[in-house]
Amino acid sequence: MKLNVVQFVLPFFLFALAACDNKKEMNSTKNETEPVFPQGEIITNDNFTGMAYLQPLIAADSLNPIAVGNVTFEPGARSKWHTHPAGQILLVIDGIGYYQEKGQPRKILHKGDAIKCPPNIPHWHGASAESSFVQVAITGREKGETVWMQPVTDEEYYSK
Ligand code: MN
Repeated sequence: MKLNVVQFVLPFFLFALAACDNKKEMNSTKNETEPVFPQGEIITNDNFTGMAYLQPLIAADSLNPIAVGNVTFEPGARSKWHTHPAGQILLVIDGIGYYQEKGQPRKILHKGDAIKCPPNIPHWHGASAESSFVQVAITGREKGETVWMQPVTDEEYYSK
């Protein structure tokens, strides 16, 4: 059978189109890895081990007594053990992190996870050893400030 021009050219045209589509997909994947919120400033208080950054997003007020902030942890960085008198909600927006309540196994957190820290339960959160971690922390303020405790030891941090 003799091929005409359309039969010969069409497969190449479709291949080129698919390649373009693929490139578009790669670009949109790249965009998704860009930060949702600014990284903010380095946290200089001693409530964290390693490098962590805070971008305050919403300040608590009388109408909404809830503080919202974006926290970025470099690999290995974590909070000290602490409690929140009115609890806390964590929304994971990037990376891989850890969350642990006292007496419970450490949980591994991924982008898209949502975690509730119950009021007055000692816990810590931070990045995994190999990956940075970005969380939006939503913290009730109407019953007082976060109570900070001891640092998370390497033994606690690496325990599974
Ligand atoms: Mn917390």
